[in-house]
Amino acid sequence: MQHLAKRLEYINEPQTIAMAKLSRELGLKHDVISLSLGEPDFTTPKHIIDAAKKAMDDGFTFYTPVAGYPELRTAICEKFRRENNLIYQPDQVVVSTGAKHSIMNAIMALINKDDEVIIPTPYWVSYSEMVKLMEGLPVFIKCTVENDYKLDPVNLEKAITPKTKAFIFSSPCNPTGSVYSKKELAALAEVFAKYPDIMIISDEIYEHINFSGHHESIAQFESIKDRVIVVNGMSKGYAMTGWRIGYIGASKEIAQACEKIQGQYTSGTSSISQKAAIAALNGDTRPTAEMQAAYARRKVLVTEGLKEIPGLKCNNPEGAFYAFPDVSSYFGKSDGNSVIKNATDLCMYVLNTVYVSMVTGEAFGAPENVRISYATSDEKLVEALKRIKTALEKLS
Ligand code: PLP
Repeated sequence: MQHLAKRLEYINEPQTIAMAKLSRELGLKHDVISLSLGEPDFTTPKHIIDAAKKAMDDGFTFYTPVAGYPELRTAICEKFRRENNLIYQPDQVVVSTGAKHSIMNAIMALINKDDEVIIPTPYWVSYSEMVKLMEGLPVFIKCTVENDYKLDPVNLEKAITPKTKAFIFSSPCNPTGSVYSKKELAALAEVFAKYPDIMIISDEIYEHINFSGHHESIAQFESIKDRVIVVNGMSKGYAMTGWRIGYIGASKEIAQACEKIQGQYTSGTSSISQKAAIAALNGDTRPTAEMQAAYARRKVLVTEGLKEIPGLKCNNPEGAFYAFPDVSSYFGKSDGNSVIKNATDLCMYVLNTVYVSMVTGEAFGAPENVRISYATSDEKLVEALKRIKTALEKLS
């Protein structure tokens, strides 16, 4: 269409959102179980909601400072110190409208046309599209199930060129659930230490959903800390997706750049959500721990259930709330009506025959996999796995 800017042609609609839309439509007529959304099924803890109500009653209904209320930025610095042993000053923190917005700010602040951005696959859907929106070039490094979908330092170094400007990854990872250990991060940091022009965007939004023990941030390595932009937020660990609060901790230079961009783009995020975020960060951590325990239980339920289905290859997810089986052994099979050619066909087949929605791995740069979100009740998960097994058994 001639009215629209060229950049619309560079990017795709997120397939996660497209699948959710499809399953909602089918859900009007059938009992659909949705395993496609990346959203906690818990409601926001009460003390956080109470803080938001109080904020409104107390008159916090005006524009906020672009980078966020000083009290919130101080609470975030305190969180970084307490939970990650990372020291940032409030002027190194920028609060945005969700972690997605924080990542977009960082990419806008860093990427010029034709700059290369290294993204290990499987990756979160939006990284590549955000880079393309800024006319940068995503450079993908394939990571495999044998390596728990983690990037090894040799492959990282091989992908670096004089045009490499940045690197983006998530740990815990959406979609694989992989969690990098301190040792694995140290090995990547050692490579980055040799290339002082490369910036590292470390997406840690699933920090609090980690079954491997302590969360480790790549920003802990002093040799590269100034070049790391730690992205985090309230959405996943505090069940606050709709509140839209994300933030970064970074060098002062990067924080100022993101603030400058945000100042012309969205301004400061919601006053009410910021007040709620202060209560969440400074408040009772038990609800977060309880949610994490529920995810840990469901993870076992799902990974054990998937083992009962022949032909799937899975890693052992150590964080986030996804399983990411390789389903390629079903490609070329048929239920008598149509042939499953790829992961997208498999998702559509399962959705249309047994009413379970999953997301094709194509959305995450992994066309042999499907993503199953276990951010839903144990009962629904048991039923969904039963249905998936029945559907796949019919393929030959
Ligand atoms: N990063 C990853 C890896 C995610 O999975 C998501 C949400 O699904 C986000 C960032 C965005 O989080 P927010 O809701 O805070 O924008």
